[in-house]
Amino acid sequence: MARTLIAGNWKMNGVSASLPEIEAIAAGVTPAKPGVEALICVPATLLTRASAAAAESALMIGGETCHAKVSGAHTGDISAPMVADAGASHVIVGHSERRADHGESSETVAAQAAAAIEAGLTPIICIGETAAERDSGKAIEVVTGMLRASLPAGADPARLVIAYEPVWAIGTGNVATVEAVDEMHTALRACLSGIFGAAAGDIPILYGGSMNPGNAAGLLTVRDVNGGLIGGASLKAADFLAIYAAA
Ligand code: PEP
Repeated sequence: MARTLIAGNWKMNGVSASLPEIEAIAAGVTPAKPGVEALICVPATLLTRASAAAAESALMIGGETCHAKVSGAHTGDISAPMVADAGASHVIVGHSERRADHGESSETVAAQAAAAIEAGLTPIICIGETAAERDSGKAIEVVTGMLRASLPAGADPARLVIAYEPVWAIGTGNVATVEAVDEMHTALRACLSGIFGAAAGDIPILYGGSMNPGNAAGLLTVRDVNGGLIGGASLKAADFLAIYAAA
């Protein structure tokens, strides 16, 4: 049975003045609820300070992306060892905003995830269909294809987290129905089982897309939903902690 992970994604939000929110979340998730982990992924500029703020707590800190290479001439990028060195335990790879804004392909995402694992980080590999792909009836085919292409070859399943995030649900308030989430997560678990066998049952599959304190309980009770990746509602400690409480 996969552990539950409630993960925040602050995206391009947060400066020094936001650190009290990290401190409040850290205090609110400590001591940890049995079987439930809490993580906030922050911009690179906040990684070190957020890690320090969460140091004595059960809250983990993550990055929002990493380069596939360890170092080199890649101006503005951040490598997986840098993210780990700044105190992170996890890193998001393949978020739809990175795929859209930076042209990151599933092959790139697989290389980033491999780099993350090599650096001792747990990658959160994001996949999800667009509205057009869902409307065409191909959502399951598209997303399971993305999953296969985004997994690093030979990865240890114990080092993976998957996040299903329908693109049309991110930041829109249009949360996917419990039925659609159930159908997709069942398909993703079956896909992972085909690759990893019984160990696939331990891989957390998060749902992401307009999760908030009002809809979290319903989404988190879906059988193969093992937590959430939360954008907007992770920026305020009270909202994030209400979702954590629902897990
Ligand atoms: C996200 O950024 O991964 C996300 C799911 O955002 P939101 O919760 O705001 O839809």
